[in-house]
Amino acid sequence: MRLEGKVALITGGASGIGLATVQKFVEEGAKVAVADINAARAQEVVDTLPAGSAIAVGVNVAVFAEVEAAVASTVEAFGKLDVIFNNAGIAGGKPLLEHDPAVDYEPLIRVDQDGVYYGILAAGRQFRAQGGGGVIISTSSIYGEQAAELSFTYSAAKAAVISFTRSAAYELAEYGIRAVAITPGRVGTAIINQFSDDLKATFASEQLRNKMTEPIEIANVVAFLASDEANVINGTVVHVDDGYSVFKQRLD
Ligand code: NAD
Repeated sequence: MRLEGKVALITGGASGIGLATVQKFVEEGAKVAVADINAARAQEVVDTLPAGSAIAVGVNVAVFAEVEAAVASTVEAFGKLDVIFNNAGIAGGKPLLEHDPAVDYEPLIRVDQDGVYYGILAAGRQFRAQGGGGVIISTSSIYGEQAAELSFTYSAAKAAVISFTRSAAYELAEYGIRAVAITPGRVGTAIINQFSDDLKATFASEQLRNKMTEPIEIANVVAFLASDEANVINGTVVHVDDGYSVFKQRLD
């Protein structure tokens, strides 16, 4: 019960890494707002959890007013906010010179980059209003630290998440607020499961244990990062990639 008494807002909480984190946080004693653009699926998740432990919040993280409203709904339900997990994201990519900016750049930046900025801003203001404290955890990616095939826009957004994390930790330290980014490698979720079995096998082989990461393996780390036991981890990137970044460097 390392999160007993904590209140968390988890974006992208209806699926994949976010869903596993919702379940883990509730197991660890937190109250959780399951925030997702798919409000119906968020409600289905809540219905599987112990009564009173979670609420569903429909939110498009690409719209600041909706993120502010999600923070307000969480505080209304549970009295405060201790943790925001800025995790909602979409993937996709095309060769750069084939881009239509309106299709291949702007929508992804709005969700994966702007959505994290809005989460940091809205939660940071709430943390300050409560008198300080609070943890901001944001999902970057291995692609946030490297160029990759068909990943021009996604890499940019995920690099911004790392930069936001550093700057937020620096600027918000005076309020006792902590910020951490995580960089998953290949996690078996909807984003990855759309690919062919051959490509999935290649993805798995890029990690040192030659297997796809389970969402719960990421959630376990996020729960630790959200806890007071992780107080010394601030402004940095925690690689949750099963050695992907190390392995790649060794191959190169
Ligand atoms: P997923 O598709 O299973 O979950 C993403 C969730 O985000 C979905 O429930 C979706 O409805 C929600 N979402 C999408 N757009 C939204 C919006 N505008 N507002 C609110 N919610 C929205 O995928 P996942 O793999 O669990 O992805 C979670 C995060 O992990 C993403 O940021 C993704 O980029 C990142 N990531 C995933 C992997 C991987 O291998 N799966 C690797 C690195 C990083």
